[in-house]
Amino acid sequence: MGLPAKRRTKQSKRERSAHFALVEANLTTCSHCKRQILPHRVCPYCGYYRGREVLKLEQLLGKKAKKRSAASKAKADEARAGTSS
Ligand SMILES: [Zn+2]
Repeated sequence: MGLPAKRRTKQSKRERSAHFALVEANLTTCSHCKRQILPHRVCPYCGYYRGREVLKLEQLLGKKAKKRSAASKAKADEARAGTSS
């Protein structure tokens, strides 16, 4: 293992770590399914982008995955209903 050539001061360590903070994702709502998605990206839940279906997710995914996504959607809807009430 390499050995640092010089001792790193408290200040230089802290200056470097000043940029380590995590930034909260800036989410937007999907125009089709109204879920929270990352901006400028195709919706991973419904495959829509700017009001147009660009990914046929149901064709891409198998029956199993479709079932799983339906279950996760129901779970998310349930969680949303729980937080709003
Ligand atoms: Zn969507």
